[in-house]
Amino acid sequence: MAEFFPSAAAMAAALQPDMPVFCLRPHVLEATAKAFCAAFPGDVLYAAKCNDDPAVLGVLAGTGLAGFDVASLAELRRVRAAAPRAACWFMHPVKRPAEIRAAIHDHGVRAFALDHEDELAKIVEAAGPTGPDLTLVVRLAVSGRHALLDFGTKFGAEPAEAAALLQAVAARGWQAGLTFHVGSQCPEPQAWRAAIGLAGRTARAAGVPLALLDVGGGFPVAYDGVAVPEPAVFGDAIRVAAGEAGLPEGCRLVAEPGRALVAGSCSLVVRVELRRGDALYLNDGVYGSLHDLKHHGVRPPMRLLRPGGSACESAPAPFRLYGPTCDGCDALPGLVWLPGDIGRGDWIEIGQMGAYARVLRTDFNGLAECGTVAVADAPPLPETMSDEPAAAAIAA
Ligand SMILES: *Cc1c(COP(=O)(O)O)cnc(C)c1O
Repeated sequence: MAEFFPSAAAMAAALQPDMPVFCLRPHVLEATAKAFCAAFPGDVLYAAKCNDDPAVLGVLAGTGLAGFDVASLAELRRVRAAAPRAACWFMHPVKRPAEIRAAIHDHGVRAFALDHEDELAKIVEAAGPTGPDLTLVVRLAVSGRHALLDFGTKFGAEPAEAAALLQAVAARGWQAGLTFHVGSQCPEPQAWRAAIGLAGRTARAAGVPLALLDVGGGFPVAYDGVAVPEPAVFGDAIRVAAGEAGLPEGCRLVAEPGRALVAGSCSLVVRVELRRGDALYLNDGVYGSLHDLKHHGVRPPMRLLRPGGSACESAPAPFRLYGPTCDGCDALPGLVWLPGDIGRGDWIEIGQMGAYARVLRTDFNGLAECGTVAVADAPPLPETMSDEPAAAAIAA
């Protein structure tokens, strides 16, 4: 487990970090995962690509999840290192043959996603004539129009193609399932309802007993300015839609959330290296942990951590934020309100950074290094989630 501090401010005071540091709140992670599992009417897998930090995987392994959704052999190995007995489902529709072979024969993986007949042929060949029984989950193409990130143009079979794949899987005597992904950060429960209806019609057209329906990930989290429904709202919509879709008796429901389980569990502490007027130059940026702030317009909550134990009293003012690389694109869009006297040596704690932040860091300009610690205090919350006025500044 990572080094432990009572708060992010205590970490900053003790370590004086000049590289970005992720602050994991294990208590938040555990509570979030348990709440999601309680709200979802089926089995929950964690999509490990979202954050595969061993500390995160280790906490999640102890929360009653049914297993992990992995996207590559390397990710499978990381999950198994942190959670040796966890069930792993290989849910990337396009895989290298060597990965499929190793997953089946070395790691005991029994569930795979696919969306094309050539991919089925690869899996059949990798399993071999005496191989184990598998569960093959056919990915349907669905609309991603309600989501921040649309996956529908890249992945998924059309219904007729999906029905033929289901028949081919069943003809081998293997278990057949359907899956879809409505796109990441999708705040609209109706997106699942429409996709589940399509899945029900596809299964009936195939005439194959469906062993499971995996409703994917995409469950949203709050960033600043956008409130999102609770997990129970999605769970109820999915339960109702599954009933309406006429799924066969015994068809198991599965979900693969990534973002919704981990986003709120990590904040990121970055440092101001230079202030020029209203421009702040940080030690992290869009080639590091702040990719989604630039490319997907994510606006996470931020608060100041000031070294030396002096709380900051000055009124908020708008600032432009720049990252540490030599690239002019390494700049965040829009303005961020921070205490007006913020300057060199202050830290900024950014909340809701547990998803798609650490994993998207690059080594551009030799800046891949970052730390992870565990902390126990409350994270910076978006205003829509907080009962209290946002704490603009904390003494470190
Ligand atoms: C990325 C992904 C997920 C997780 O998506 P979130 O939007 O983070 O919940 C789940 N399943 C598959 C197949 C994915 O590619």
